[in-house]
Amino acid sequence: MIQIDAETVARYDRLGPRYTSYPTVPQWHDSYGQGEVISALKRANLRSGPLSLYIHLPFCKSTCSFCGCNHVADQKQKLTAQFAPLLEKELDLFASNLPKRRDIVQLHLGGGTPTWLTSIQLDTILNVVGEKFNFLVNAEKSIEVHPAVTTISHIEVLAAHGFQRISMGVQDFDPQVQEIIGRIQSVDMTRELIAACRERGFSSVNLDLIYGLPAQTANKFDSTLTHVINLRPERIALYSYAHLPARFSHQSTMPLELLPSSEEKMKIFLLSRRRLLEAGYIDIGMDHFVLPEDDMAKALLTGELHRNFMGYSTKAGSEMIAVGPSAISMLEDSYFQLNPHWASWRRAVEMGELSIVKGINLDEETQKRRDAIMSWMCNRRIDKGEDFPNHWITHLKSETISPLVEEDEHGWHATNLGNLFLRVIAMGFDPSFNGLEEEVKHQYSQTV
Ligand code: SF4
Repeated sequence: MIQIDAETVARYDRLGPRYTSYPTVPQWHDSYGQGEVISALKRANLRSGPLSLYIHLPFCKSTCSFCGCNHVADQKQKLTAQFAPLLEKELDLFASNLPKRRDIVQLHLGGGTPTWLTSIQLDTILNVVGEKFNFLVNAEKSIEVHPAVTTISHIEVLAAHGFQRISMGVQDFDPQVQEIIGRIQSVDMTRELIAACRERGFSSVNLDLIYGLPAQTANKFDSTLTHVINLRPERIALYSYAHLPARFSHQSTMPLELLPSSEEKMKIFLLSRRRLLEAGYIDIGMDHFVLPEDDMAKALLTGELHRNFMGYSTKAGSEMIAVGPSAISMLEDSYFQLNPHWASWRRAVEMGELSIVKGINLDEETQKRRDAIMSWMCNRRIDKGEDFPNHWITHLKSETISPLVEEDEHGWHATNLGNLFLRVIAMGFDPSFNGLEEEVKHQYSQTV
């Protein structure tokens, strides 16, 4: 196990992007609108290959205080019933500009809590999607759920539509932490839902954990890890809590005095990493752990790992269209985000429009930097090409970065220490982040 002292943590703990995209969202243009999106879709229509489709279902029963996702608390389920017809209209807007590209290789339902819709509402939505697009025979279908509101009926509908992957939020099983973050969920409830999924043919279960929450300590988190390891999910995501109350106002209720220090956070992370590796998991990128037989482990070996707004994915190279409030489409040469505000998004869709809040077209130079950054984030290395810029070499050989990387025959790879700070290595390939004003940098999370 890597031992890291406080000095090393302090050296590499800084504000920085998680690089689920490059350029990152705060650097996109507010002036990007429907016209640019239609042009981007028309260009995508001329390319080939199946697409990935992401659907954002923003509704939740209530708000968890740590949440960093776009969501609408809809306790009485008054809004969920309105969603299917709106989604159908928005899918039509996308599909009409993609007449030649309707094949889907990957579908992901995210949120919010997709299972806060009733199973009948979910079934309607999946039927609508199936009418607009063609799913390839082996298309991967996955969903994010909150076990506390997910029923057997939901699982049966999903299984009937061919879903094989399910991701469940856990965060921490410690009762004190759950009480503070407003999310009560027992080990038994989680175990029963996993069993129900497996009985109905789901081949992959992911559990999300978060470290850095109030009242967490390495000692207490050890017990959550024991439960999680016993549940034996194929994938585990271990995210660092990002405290950004300026962006997510509900986070201001967090008791700051109970947040663990950077050092304690790093202790929890390293303990988790050690325990998961000892339990037979493989670490993927910064915050994902998978069993060796999982597709993601294979993708890591073959260099086919891909990173997008959902984290790591095995569908390298597939362009993603995304619908629903706040959803972000990632095409080869452009990214854009739909309006995150439920009422504004709904109004636009009712008028037959796409409400775009931000977007960006990527020129060749930007695509090159994106590929370099994603190579670090996904493959933990970069190959030297003929046109490898000198300032990248200077960055890799700098006093701060050199302990994180090692030169080899084909380029540079991350050292064991570097694997823990891939974001810090990648930041040197991102001149636009380094040029941002301090105020804007505070929209990003700490690297530890
Ligand atoms: S259930 Fe998920 S999306 Fe909804 S508030 Fe909690 S963390 Fe956020």
